[in-house]
Amino acid sequence: MAAGPNYAFFKGKIVPIDEAKVSVMTHALNYGTGAFGGVRAYWNPEDEDLYLFRPLDHFRRVLNSAKLLLMDLPYTPESMLDILLQLLRKEGYRQDVYIRPLIYKSSHVIGVRLHDLDAEFTMFAQPFGSYIEDEEGSSVTFSAWRRVDDNAIPARGKISGAYANSAFIKTDAMLNGFDEALVLNENGHISEGSAENFFIVRDGVALTPPINANILEGITRRTVMQLLTEELNMPVVEREIDRTEVYLADEAFFCGTGVQVVAIASVDHRPIGSGKMGPVVRQLRDLYFNLVRGKLDQHRDWTVPVYCTKG
Ligand code: PMP
Repeated sequence: MAAGPNYAFFKGKIVPIDEAKVSVMTHALNYGTGAFGGVRAYWNPEDEDLYLFRPLDHFRRVLNSAKLLLMDLPYTPESMLDILLQLLRKEGYRQDVYIRPLIYKSSHVIGVRLHDLDAEFTMFAQPFGSYIEDEEGSSVTFSAWRRVDDNAIPARGKISGAYANSAFIKTDAMLNGFDEALVLNENGHISEGSAENFFIVRDGVALTPPINANILEGITRRTVMQLLTEELNMPVVEREIDRTEVYLADEAFFCGTGVQVVAIASVDHRPIGSGKMGPVVRQLRDLYFNLVRGKLDQHRDWTVPVYCTKG
């Protein structure tokens, strides 16, 4: 069997991936009227099980996006999780995977609007490794692009069309030789990376932009905030961050389901702290990877075993 995905949940049932196809007339394909999620599941070889990380939180956010887009979907976070478990068991993965839930306006009509349109939920899961090559020392730039504003396209919605903004940001950064970019909001403060939340550590305090700084309300961000306060005893403050605070930070990092926890070594060629991964990010990464692989006793409720080998 191919590496996968071999199946998708599509139009109410699990079908071979080749049957999960939409028409060129699909509203979401033409106008960006979809929204998505990104969930990870981690293979734990000792337990011989695959652990989903905070899937219900991800599905809650997908359904909140549906609410913003005026979609009426017959699913709950719990029913979406049931579908995901069926899908993963059918795929039978024994490696790390990335899951893409997608909701979209499925009507075949010309006309830009949100109302009076049908909506569908689809989902697939594929094997997946790192998102950023150098997770221990990424090189970052400040993007010349601005983050879409809540009054333009709400960033908290994870809306497909808004990711053209992220694509501009990411591509310019990469074509200029950087791994990622930090993007400012219309107020000139930092929002986040192209597809990840952002933290700095300065004088023993972790700082991250607040949820009204045009960021996605990241689930990894929430996880990291809890790990920093509970496990590393470090105060976390949510407030707007200036560009020059980053230059003076002791450490800086990105976090997100895709990127996981990525150390930032330099911003616009200026070394951050020592210019290498610092002690806080190192400890946080260790904790995070143990947590998501189901190896920590704390926060067992955040991981959901797929095969339930432990009974
Ligand atoms: N910001 C943006 C713009 C993103 O696309 C993502 C990835 N989903 C994140 C932040 C991180 O969110 P999460 O931790 O929920 O994956």
